[in-house]
This record gives sequence, C-alpha cells and structure tokens, in this order.
Amino acid sequence: MRTAILVIATVIAAVWLFGCYIQGDSPEAAFGSNTRVLSANSSPSDLHGPNEGGGGSDAEVGDADSDPAFEAARTNDPALERARAETPASKSKPLRILVIGAHPADIFDQSGGTMAHHVQRGDWVGCVVVTHGSRVHDKVVSDEMFRREEIPDAAELERIILERAEVKTKEILRACAILGVRSEDVYFLGADDAILLVNEPTIRQLARLIRKLRPNVVITHFPLEDAGIASQHATAGQMAMHAINFAGSVDPGDKTPPHKVTQVFFFGIGAAATRTDLWSSRGGFHNDIFIDITDVAAKKVASLDALVSQGYGGAYARKRIEFSDGAFGSRVKVPYAEGFISLKSTTHYFLPVSEIDLAHSKSSDHESISRSSFRVDVPPPREVER
Ligand SMILES: [Zn+2]
Repeated sequence: MRTAILVIATVIAAVWLFGCYIQGDSPEAAFGSNTRVLSANSSPSDLHGPNEGGGGSDAEVGDADSDPAFEAARTNDPALERARAETPASKSKPLRILVIGAHPADIFDQSGGTMAHHVQRGDWVGCVVVTHGSRVHDKVVSDEMFRREEIPDAAELERIILERAEVKTKEILRACAILGVRSEDVYFLGADDAILLVNEPTIRQLARLIRKLRPNVVITHFPLEDAGIASQHATAGQMAMHAINFAGSVDPGDKTPPHKVTQVFFFGIGAAATRTDLWSSRGGFHNDIFIDITDVAAKKVASLDALVSQGYGGAYARKRIEFSDGAFGSRVKVPYAEGFISLKSTTHYFLPVSEIDLAHSKSSDHESISRSSFRVDVPPPREVER
C-alpha cells in the first residue's frame, strides 16, 4: 500500500516538473527557491555594492536567521558585518577603482570606507590627488600666515609651500596605507590649490593616467557641487569627466590604447540634510548609492588621524565620522555610510535589491533606531604633531 502511494506521488511530481519545463521555468523556480542562478556568470559591471553582483545562496536572501547582514544589523556588531564581506556573494571579478580628489583629504573624507572595503575584497584601488593642497587649512601656510604682520617674499613663500606639500604627501601615503592602498598606486599631480581652473594640461595628464591604469570605476567630485562654479571640488570633478571622455580616444604621444571607464560614482553631496548656501540649493540630483562603512569606520578615523597638518587628526576625525558618515548613515538606517551619486543607469539581469536593504525591511522601527545608534569609539592618538 505504502509503495503504491509512493509510486503515485512520484508520477505526480514528475508530471508537474515536466509541466514546469514545458512552460520554461527552471526547476529552482518550480520549487520556489530563492537561489540566484547567476552565481556562475555574475557580471563585474554590477556595481551597486559588494554583495549584489555575485549571485548568492538561499541563506543570503531568504533565511534571516543565518544571514550575517541581518545578524549584524540586529546585534549592532561591526565584527559580524565583516563576515558579510566574506560571503560567497561578495566574490566577483576584481574591479579596478580609481579615486580622484582635488585636495589631500578629499579622497579619505568622502570615500575612505568604500576604498577600504574594495581593498579588502581584493579589488585594485588607486588614488589621484590633483593639487598639493598646501593652502588647505594648513598649519603653516594657512594658520600662521593669517596671524603674521607681513607675508614672506615670493621665493621664501614658494619654498614654504613646497615644504608643506611634502608634509601633505607623506600624510596622504600614511592615510592610504591605513586603508590598504599601496603607495605605488597613489599619484600626485601637484597642481597649486591657489586658483584651480579647468585646464587642458591637467585633463591630458589625467586622461593618460586613466589609459595607463585602466579603471572600471572612477570615484570623484560631483562636477555640479556648489553649482559647479564656486568650488575646486567641482573643477576637479569636471576635469575628471573631460579626462574620462578623452581617455576613450587616442592622444598623439601616448602609446597606450584608449580605455573606457564603466561607471563613475561622484562623492555624495550634503551629508547633513540642511542646505547652507545659495549654491547648494540648486539640485535635481540625489545620492543614490550608499555604502555601509560601519565595519571600517575605525579604520577611516585612523586614516583621517594621519592628516595632521590640516587639523584633521584627533578630535576632528572623531567629530567628522559622526557629522558626515553618521549623517549619511542616518538617512539609510546604518551607523555610518558614505553616499555617492552614480553617473549612469546600470544594466542587470535581475532587479538589484541589496541584502542590507532586505535586512532593514525585516527590522522593526526600534531595531532600526537601535542599529543606527552604534557609535565607533577610537581612542585619540597620544600626540598630535603638526
Ligand atoms: Zn577638498
């Protein structure tokens, strides 16, 4: 009797499965599994985050209890968030990411956590610093000159500026090393940060670097920051865009073949919700990508600590992680985040839904507030040398 029931059940299951194939469904679909069938052929062009491009398993999508992202969210434990970076879904073809900043601190301020994530995943991360940044609230060139009776003569002033540029260079390399970026992957264009205008030689320099380094992704300033007219950040972003376009073509004298950048992410605008001046009131754009950097927030603070000459080390680094990354994070219910504006629409096989967002939708309001209340506690460096 039992054998007869088993035979009938097997026949029914076989007919049902056959029906599914006739209709074009995969067996996974037929069985209602959440398995993502892209895992073997995931596209590196899926740039929305470390956990979305590589396919995944049932546990990542459907089973909240064994989902490290959800566990991390529920328990406020950054260590658990690190586990998320080690899930199979985070493995995709290595990306090449080039970060272009106007001043020494910009790349760390705006994308230090994101850089650390990608280095950890095994992606190549390189940095370009367009100006030497000697004037950016530097202890000597900015602070001391402000209080002097008279400014030194031209030759002496230029010597001081170059000396301070060297200090900044060392700080940048130290900050990069903390995030895992190798010194040989950091490029200094050395432009003066007195008056930075969009100019052909710098664009040509950047384009040659892009052809040589062949990044899939460029991260840089939003070209319309401060309406694109009142900011060296905007100028650097505009030059980066000209360079990206030019890199896709040939340049007499440069034997490196053209290179096309896949995607550009601009540094997010206005971590705090309040707009503070006329320029930032112009808009139409919004930060559409957020990277949860909670697990590397301490590392980011340490990298900002390295920027001593401009007063970022110590108290300011700790304040900064709260008012900038904490403010971005509060918008998306994580403790700390970096915001970005993506240049292009992206193409996927499936609709992109992030695991972090899925985990959020499983949280109650109080769990969300509790999760985003986590604060990183990094002891200040013992001695801040300027
Ligand atoms: Zn800057």
